[in-house]
Amino acid sequence: MAASRIISATMSTTIRTMVAAAIAGGLIVAQAAQALAQSVPIVRDAEIEALVRDYARPILRAAGLSKSGIDIILVNDPGFNAFVAGRRMFINTGALLQSETPNEIIGVIAHEAGHIAGGHQERLRQQIARAQTMAIVAGLLGAGAAVAGVASGSREMAAAGGGMAIGGGEAARRSLLGYQRSEEATADRSAITYLEATGQSAKGMLKTFERFQSALSLSGARVDPYQVSHPMPRDRIANLEELARKSPNFDKTDSATLQLRHDLMRAKIAVYTQGQGTAARLLRKAKGGLPAQYADAIGTYLNGSPKAALAKVDALLKAQPKNPYFHELRGDVLMKANKPDLAAEAYQRAVKLDPVKSGILPIALGQALIAKGDPKSLERAVAQVQLGLDRDRENATGYRYLAQAYGQLGDIAAAELATAEGHFYSGNYKDARIFAARAQQRLKPGAPGWVRAQDIINYKAPKKG
Ligand SMILES: [Zn+2]
Repeated sequence: MAASRIISATMSTTIRTMVAAAIAGGLIVAQAAQALAQSVPIVRDAEIEALVRDYARPILRAAGLSKSGIDIILVNDPGFNAFVAGRRMFINTGALLQSETPNEIIGVIAHEAGHIAGGHQERLRQQIARAQTMAIVAGLLGAGAAVAGVASGSREMAAAGGGMAIGGGEAARRSLLGYQRSEEATADRSAITYLEATGQSAKGMLKTFERFQSALSLSGARVDPYQVSHPMPRDRIANLEELARKSPNFDKTDSATLQLRHDLMRAKIAVYTQGQGTAARLLRKAKGGLPAQYADAIGTYLNGSPKAALAKVDALLKAQPKNPYFHELRGDVLMKANKPDLAAEAYQRAVKLDPVKSGILPIALGQALIAKGDPKSLERAVAQVQLGLDRDRENATGYRYLAQAYGQLGDIAAAELATAEGHFYSGNYKDARIFAARAQQRLKPGAPGWVRAQDIINYKAPKKG
């Protein structure tokens, strides 16, 4: 019953987030947390995150940034955008969906890494260095969202002139986000260096930028946020092309394995954000391959009978028995079928097979264990969700599950502290303080939980830029 909520609201995010509230029932103020989660379009998905990090890792290393703790955050927005804020790189699902090859998105990551390494936008960085991720997105994405709303969708043409309808506040934000031309040239050159150092072609980057340039010059109406912040005059593209073609790697393509992971990711994003029809159109080229099968299985999970979905997931697993995300989907289907014990087994397999140890998968396992509901399962749920949160400290959804598990175990202080943490990491500091204070009333002063609650109460939220 709960699963369809995952994708209910258009701005909603997560490929997983929303399930718990419906299962919970209990004393936790799940609704508030859910509303908040829905207002911030961050996508949390183990498969997509792992892939995009695989794209970024060698580039960041080549840029000398691998020790800078650069976080990559996925934003659920159909417009093409990628931007850097502080030590976080934000990438829109629209950019992933529109990039036909890994190389195209890797090129964009390389260019953004060039901005980070070049210390561009220092003023913006200082302002938001201390802010929580969600607060940044809520504050900054306004500009991108407004523009992307006009451009809406990857192929739709916006009404002429609509892209210009941006208010004064947005204009200010744009100037804050926009790069200087000299910075663009520097970031391009750096990107080429990183791609060269990692033995990759700059063709994808060039293709993306050329597309933006022609889109602008042809219509003047369709504006992706990335175009707004990254000016692409003709001479810039010409210089980039000259540099790119000099490389012996120019005609190199991505490995078949990486391309398949990319296509599976695009299938997933398409079906979750734009429905089965769009996914089918997008995948027509794939001619019934695994990505098309994946989109079909997810679509059936979302809109069809769990039984039919399960058969399709099992067919996927026959092709790739060790794919953790196919097991994860199997867990999702079984949750929808109201079989939390079998779902827990599927998620457990996903956790075991996951090579990058995402926090998301143990939290999903915890969710299934909460649904089982017996005390032993609830205790296991606490341990699994805690494991997930240890790996992924800002996972607001995880705190909600943790709160539910504690609540059902009767540990109200721990439940309220977990709720406080969830609000805290969502950037909702006022509610975080309220729940931290409630937790403190049930805790011994000086105990670890009490101290953590006090930290939340004392936290000074950064001023909004
Ligand atoms: Zn740029």
